[in-house]
Amino acid sequence: MRNSLFLSAILLALSISFTANAQESTGPFTLEPLPYAYNALEPYFDAQTMELHHDKHLAAYVTNLNAAVKGTTADTMSLEELMANISKYEIKVRNNGGGVYNHNLYFSQFAPNRGGAPIGTITPAINAAFGNYENMRKEMNAAAMGRFGSGWAWLILTPEKKLAICSTPNQDNPLMDVADVKGTPILAIDVWEHAYYLKYQNRRAEYLDAFWKLVNWQEVGKRYDAAMRK
Ligand code: MN
Repeated sequence: MRNSLFLSAILLALSISFTANAQESTGPFTLEPLPYAYNALEPYFDAQTMELHHDKHLAAYVTNLNAAVKGTTADTMSLEELMANISKYEIKVRNNGGGVYNHNLYFSQFAPNRGGAPIGTITPAINAAFGNYENMRKEMNAAAMGRFGSGWAWLILTPEKKLAICSTPNQDNPLMDVADVKGTPILAIDVWEHAYYLKYQNRRAEYLDAFWKLVNWQEVGKRYDAAMRK
């Protein structure tokens, strides 16, 4: 009798914990899987940073966003729609919604053994806007270095269909109706310390050097072409 009560108590505890987990993972927004292995970007981005960044940081933004939009008009919106209307919602929707959008873009733009010069139709657009790729990289690095505290540096396509560089604080992005500079994000540098501190500590400039060795220009070019067609 005592044993069966004990067993019932364990089963009850387990079912409560399963229910809690199930509730955490439900909601309109989902955790996009990392499109490569944790160690695929070694030695530039280390496996432990990638695992924590994706499985802990991004996963938390997804969970918190789902909780924050519950019962609001945002729970049927795409992420892009939500960004364009972000001022209508509370700050936790802005912080976590930006967190999800920004990291989905960030993780999708890398591949092992990439980097080098841009390819495809984005190349003449970079030359037109910045003179050449080297200047573009310098300008984006300057935006990333100049962002005090946590935030992002962006290569965007402006509403006038020109490439430009800007930066945002926290998890804001240029799609948000509250952004100072608006446009479609093409390339994103996360300058939160969680993106680089394990390997580079305070050396943000070294993280930026590593960043450019991983950019998958084929993927970034697709994003540019899609933004041009909009
Ligand atoms: Mn991050």
